[in-house]
Amino acid sequence: MISEEQALAKILAAVEPLGVESLDLLAACGRFSAVDLFATEPLPGFDNSAMDGYAVRAEDAHAGARLRLTGTQPAGLDLGLTVGAGETVRIFTGAPMPRGATAVIMQEEVRAEDGTIVVGAKVEPGEFIRRRGADLATGQKLMAAGEKITAPMLALLASQGWGEARVGRAPRVAILSTGDELVPPGQPLGAGQIYESNGVLLAALAQKTGATVARLSLVPDDRDALRTQLQSGLQADALIVSGGVSVGERDFVKAELTALGAQLDLWRVAIKPGKPFVFGRHGACKIFGLPGNPVSSFVTFLAFVRPALLKMQGARDWSMPARAVATAAELSNPGDRPHYLRGKLDGGIFFPSGLQQSHALFGLSQSTALVRVEAGEIVPAGARVGALCWD
Ligand code: AMP
Ligand code: MG
Repeated sequence: MISEEQALAKILAAVEPLGVESLDLLAACGRFSAVDLFATEPLPGFDNSAMDGYAVRAEDAHAGARLRLTGTQPAGLDLGLTVGAGETVRIFTGAPMPRGATAVIMQEEVRAEDGTIVVGAKVEPGEFIRRRGADLATGQKLMAAGEKITAPMLALLASQGWGEARVGRAPRVAILSTGDELVPPGQPLGAGQIYESNGVLLAALAQKTGATVARLSLVPDDRDALRTQLQSGLQADALIVSGGVSVGERDFVKAELTALGAQLDLWRVAIKPGKPFVFGRHGACKIFGLPGNPVSSFVTFLAFVRPALLKMQGARDWSMPARAVATAAELSNPGDRPHYLRGKLDGGIFFPSGLQQSHALFGLSQSTALVRVEAGEIVPAGARVGALCWD
């Protein structure tokens, strides 16, 4: 059995970014830039008015001054107007500054009288002018390769006139649930059977990382059926199998993967829940065998699959966001493996949710964060813990 850290290092060493694709900006949201990006356009692109008002020479605009109105400069085209001594030009927000003008007076601050304005109060040079390049200079770095493209970042890329972004290719992920006892939701349940719930859980988690997900048909613990579905799943960039990786007589996943020529790099990790986790590869496909208990599948996905899927997309950071919070209750781990406890964050406090056992789906469904408690550790109520926010 190896440690979680060793297992993750091994997996990440086996995973490389998959390549680059160009996507329309909206489709690139949440993906990772494949390149360092630098501004080709300054922001603002030209000196312009921050207000609806009047462009003036600041030295002319003392309280009570009367200025002659010589034109109107709207937004969207540059009329090339000039403001001379004792003159003003009507101007609107975003409109280019006329030559000679050194300030804008808000329209609320003047009185307009047939062809002139009367200034209410003196203005300072530069007032209400948005200067070319003040927000962003040409050549300035916009983002580094591997950074996540957020909604405001999309707006910034659009402001450069770019309609597409170069991002890391999304992994194609196949998801396979295995188990004799499993029935797809929507069908009648026989005695001793349970509904299959890991498929949708893992598909949603994989999709959230940016992966493109294909769900394979559920298979019983039958070698032939399993082999057929595994074979099809091995065409993907990543194959996630749930169930059948433990030590039971009907846990055939490892044996069938090996029979198909896969190389298994690790099996059994010191993590609770999730000990029987398997990682291997077959050609370019990375294989993740997750224990079938729902919380085990969840925790091993976050610990091992999520970082790998993010690295495949060229992400440079795959750690889960951690928040320092207080725990509402004592957290103890009498076992010999680190235990990931599930709970809800509320007002900066971690409340453990429900049964902390690997089959306990309800408590998991109520949780928003995980806290790792080390083997033998007792964390008293009220102590600070690092809550991993998986959502
Ligand atoms: P296994 O890893 O195959 O030994 O399964 C461990 C436990 O998880 C058993 O109680 C299974 O019934 C349960 N289980 C396995 N796969 C699923 C699944 N896809 N959905 C819900 N429970 C599952
Ligand atoms: Mg099973």
